[in-house]
Amino acid sequence: MKPYALLLSVFVLTGCVTASQLQQASAGQFEKMRQEMTISNNAADRAYVQCIANAIIAQLDEPYASYNWDVELFDEDETNAFAMPGGQIGVFTGMFAVAEDQDQLAAVMGHEIAHVTLGHSLSRANSQTAATLGIMIGSVASEVVRENVGLIMLGTQLGLLLPFSRAQETEADVDGLELVARAGFRPAASVELWRNMAAANPNRPPSFLSTHPSSSARIAALGEQVTQVMPLYQQARAGGRRPACSR
Ligand SMILES: [Zn+2]
Repeated sequence: MKPYALLLSVFVLTGCVTASQLQQASAGQFEKMRQEMTISNNAADRAYVQCIANAIIAQLDEPYASYNWDVELFDEDETNAFAMPGGQIGVFTGMFAVAEDQDQLAAVMGHEIAHVTLGHSLSRANSQTAATLGIMIGSVASEVVRENVGLIMLGTQLGLLLPFSRAQETEADVDGLELVARAGFRPAASVELWRNMAAANPNRPPSFLSTHPSSSARIAALGEQVTQVMPLYQQARAGGRRPACSR
């Protein structure tokens, strides 16, 4: 708990949050998730998720290219994935039920990684009062993850406890799609994925989509973006970037 207490005092004293503070906080939170949630012990599934992450990360610019990216597969039924500002990527096994192939899962992971490279957590954190953020971190640190999945999910999936705005979600869609296209994943898989997601959750969007535009608006926008990134995808394939990740 001590790092969190320290972080809290830093926030209160300085009144703003630096990238380095966010990275420390997210690393600590990720370790806590590893300790308190069930980690998948399926080697093939773990390798599959890592393979997709590697292909996407290889397309990042500095400083993100040099991050110590850390990928974990959590054995949880929930349809969820997240990336934290320090470069921690979490995927829940529940994603396999809707993401049918590597390209669809890459669409989700690319979106989450784009939130990191767009600095969304940091700008979000600074839009809140430092004290509030510090208290939120402190309270999360003292919770038992398993019994507070809602709270923890809100925090961890969104980088650091604060939901992204709709504008940020759209930015992450655009940048995420470009990223996966450059990595050689089929861009159209993003549209397929969100269709599957909408079908799987007819009444309630999964938590990581709750701040997104409605499924139909999102799918329409993505369809246009797919056309725009096709040249990047074709370039990637021609250049030998042909990820072959499978379970
Ligand atoms: Zn998002």
